[in-house]
Amino acid sequence: MAQDRPRRDPLERRTTSVLALACLRTGAEEGEVVYHFLERPEAVVSTRFTVADTEALEAELSAAIARINEGQFRPTPSEFTCSGCPARDRVCAGPRLLAPEPMDEYAEAY
Ligand code: SF4
Repeated sequence: MAQDRPRRDPLERRTTSVLALACLRTGAEEGEVVYHFLERPEAVVSTRFTVADTEALEAELSAAIARINEGQFRPTPSEFTCSGCPARDRVCAGPRLLAPEPMDEYAEAY
């Protein structure tokens, strides 16, 4: 699978995998999933895939389904995931949850 940037939001990546698999299951040999963000029109994100990616896509989604079935719902905040969440900055710090705690930085220094 070819991506135009190295780090992908987990929800965006999973959504891309679902769309890619749906495309491949229709019999397509290859395809491309493209995101155009309204708030960042210059930041087009494109992922190309081929039928050779099918097994990896299925494995990724099966692993995600297994985690859900096991009751694992670890939050994975990000700008993409949290962008429309009504809890953000009210009862949840959203992507700031991923920032290191001040004491973590202190501990790393010593
Ligand atoms: S803002 Fe908090 S509750 Fe909302 S999606 Fe992000 S992590 Fe989840």
